[in-house]
Amino acid sequence: MKVKNVALFGATGSIGRNAIEVIKNNNELFRLFAVSGHTNVELLSRIANDFKPDYVVVTSDNQISVPDGITLLRGIDGLKEVAAHPDVDIVLVATSGIVGVFPTIEALKNGKRVALANKETLVSFGKVVTDVLKSGDGEIIPVDSEHSAIFQLLNGVKREEVDKIVLTASGGPFRTWSVEQLENATVQDALKHPTWSMGSKITIDSATLMNKGLEVIEAYWLFGYPIEKIDVVVHPQSIIHGMVTLKDGAILAHLSATDMKLPIQYALSFPNRLKPPVKPIDLVDIGKLTFEKPDINRFPALKLAYDALKMNGSYPAVLNASNEVAVYAFLEGKIRFTDIPKVVEGVMGKHHPVSGDTLEELFDADRWARGEALKLIKKMT
Ligand code: NDP
Ligand code: MG
Repeated sequence: MKVKNVALFGATGSIGRNAIEVIKNNNELFRLFAVSGHTNVELLSRIANDFKPDYVVVTSDNQISVPDGITLLRGIDGLKEVAAHPDVDIVLVATSGIVGVFPTIEALKNGKRVALANKETLVSFGKVVTDVLKSGDGEIIPVDSEHSAIFQLLNGVKREEVDKIVLTASGGPFRTWSVEQLENATVQDALKHPTWSMGSKITIDSATLMNKGLEVIEAYWLFGYPIEKIDVVVHPQSIIHGMVTLKDGAILAHLSATDMKLPIQYALSFPNRLKPPVKPIDLVDIGKLTFEKPDINRFPALKLAYDALKMNGSYPAVLNASNEVAVYAFLEGKIRFTDIPKVVEGVMGKHHPVSGDTLEELFDADRWARGEALKLIKKMT
């Protein structure tokens, strides 16, 4: 099999570093053709030295030096140029934030595989991205673990036989906390994720359950089922990543270790399966799997995400943008943990929606929501 050239955007992040491990362990199949980083130029430079990609893209203004023979590109234009490069086979979008939409669209337009980790791309721009996807030869293979699980399960069933798709949620570090305890939750508490090791923004989102809300929206665009058919179940062990309920009542489930190397590797190798990137789980060791209903009274962010999806248009972009601003305000100690969904709800309540059919409209909605969120946060502090 020909070695596949991978462009890895967000190489310096949590997903990015895991992806590098996967590519290194399968170097007869994949090569790091290009990497991008934002502020961590030290690590990016080390990656460039170790892997000698053809391209390095830096999206911040930070200075960097790369070895001779490597082309250095800058900014979003750099990401787009690499995503469209004829020698690139797979674009792994693992940046955080809405910037992920640009290389995703460029790669799809050029008929490439997008291994998509970045959530914001589908949450904020779902309609635009799926329109581009449908009109060309590109494909999106999800990296988010729940979506990878559902993607794998759906490949084995007929569409009309599906009753529901079910995303599992660990419930985060505050699964058993009371409202009073949540009001006093510290950043340190919120960053202690019980089962997954991830970047800090998504770890806070897991604690509020907004992460699951964003994933419901992501699933809606990826799999094309109506919102009523997308359910969330809390499963604290995070061993089952996704389930598909069939019309005869059978439930298919996907179980694996809680390690992002698995879905990353599958998004690169699909439809093939490679050697396990981590030690496979032993169910006897695990012993017990439990399930609970998510509590939207304590975790209103999940309901806000369902509401945003029901109203659709520019609402999911507004949900994502206001949440991002609120999460960073919490991380900086400016607001309380329980203020995060309040900011989102406040901004959504003021929004005058637009259709959400163009990138420009959605970027406007995103910018507006960030401004409104900052205003609300200022009032709270
Ligand atoms: P991290 O914060 O660990 O990494 C983010 C990456 O994006 C870094 O490489 C960072 O560069 C880069 N980056 C940050 N800001 C920008 C910007 N404005 N423009 C371009 N690049 C930027 O995040 P994660 O790896 O945790 O998550 C990445 C994405 O994957 C998110 O969308 C997240 O929701 C999604 N995801 C993550 C999972 C996980 O397990 N971590 C699971 C499922 C989805 P630098 O560090 O150099 O500044
Ligand atoms: Mg996930």
